Amino acid sequence: MHLREQFFRHLAQTSPAPLGLEIERAEGCWLYDTAGNRYLDLIAGIGVSSVGHRHPAVLAAIHGQLGRYLHTLVYGELVLSPQVRLATALAETLRPYRTAAGLALDNVYLTNSGTEAIEGAMKLAKRLTGRTGFVACHHAYHGATQGALSLAGAEFFRQAFRPLLPGVRHIRHGQTADLKHITEKTAAVVIEIVSAEAGVSTAENAYWAALQARCRQTGTLVIVDEVQTGFGRTGTFWAFGPTGLVPDVLVAAKGMGGGMPIGAFIAPKSLMQAFTENPVLGHITTFGGHPVSAAASLATLQVILEEKLIEQVPEKAAFLRGRLVHPRIRAVRQAGLLMAVEFRDFSELKAIIDAALRRGLLTDWFLFCDNALRIAPPLTITLEELDWACQVLLEAIDGLEP
Ligand code: PMP
Repeated sequence: MHLREQFFRHLAQTSPAPLGLEIERAEGCWLYDTAGNRYLDLIAGIGVSSVGHRHPAVLAAIHGQLGRYLHTLVYGELVLSPQVRLATALAETLRPYRTAAGLALDNVYLTNSGTEAIEGAMKLAKRLTGRTGFVACHHAYHGATQGALSLAGAEFFRQAFRPLLPGVRHIRHGQTADLKHITEKTAAVVIEIVSAEAGVSTAENAYWAALQARCRQTGTLVIVDEVQTGFGRTGTFWAFGPTGLVPDVLVAAKGMGGGMPIGAFIAPKSLMQAFTENPVLGHITTFGGHPVSAAASLATLQVILEEKLIEQVPEKAAFLRGRLVHPRIRAVRQAGLLMAVEFRDFSELKAIIDAALRRGLLTDWFLFCDNALRIAPPLTITLEELDWACQVLLEAIDGLEP
């Protein structure tokens, strides 16, 4: 049986139409398939490969850790330097901020994935507040496990899996009027600064101030999901930075690992401490923060800072905005190198995505916005590569039926 047949026969897919390219290797911003084609990766798989594929510093960190140890014991029992150094570096990126209660975000719980980090954050909020309600946004995605799925902002994804967590209320992202649904029953609001899967929807700073105030008033915690936006994607290390809002619990994953699986929820030490009592072992994981992933993540963080990748985001973002001008582009929404380019409808967008793929450009749409093209390349992408990508996209648009 060919690999392709085995793929369809033995590997579970949940997409009815997987891309199915047979990948041989990846380097920088490019994927290479076994048929000898190469693809410029404009989505960084998805939002993960922020420092490009197989960045040499990430590979060196992985190789270095391979020579020391892999898994040793369940998470949190032993002093493992990759985990400790990563947690320290993450706390350092958060040093300028204080939560509404005046606390530093200095304690990191490492997980394997984004959805696990969301689960941990939700459990922490329930444990700390003694409440069970959550508020999340329409058209938001926070993960596929049952707690995170309860927050999913579309009934289409939730309905087949009920019963889910009770007491989840959905509000519109960025609409101050909806903040009244945060009440004394709400353990936490779970929210992205940029609602990514809604098709890159942003909010005014006044909204964040109102949200923080409402949460203070009702004793509700703020969980900020930076799984897509963290680690520099929007032009600051954390997207919440310029908003004035400071989360009580911050969630990261995806771009954090430089291509290795890892996530985290980060809170003040005094809050996280609640997991050690009543019950003890309030949150446990075997593999969370795997030493190889943690080493890769630390290297990723250092690459982002040392190569000044965040400083390059505005120029690259402006370049894309300047080049992607066409009568058939209806709107462009952008938060640094997270960008949605809107077309008439899904069929028009799909024709563009397919034509671009045939020319060697990999793009996508959004879970809750299927008429907008997703652009979220590695932050390391060059202006020349972006220029080529824009040329391919504009040609694909020109090739549409009138
Ligand atoms: N939060 C957000 C904002 C995400 O985009 C995702 C993944 N698309 C998740 C959480 C879940 O992350 P994971 O797939 O690693 O579980």
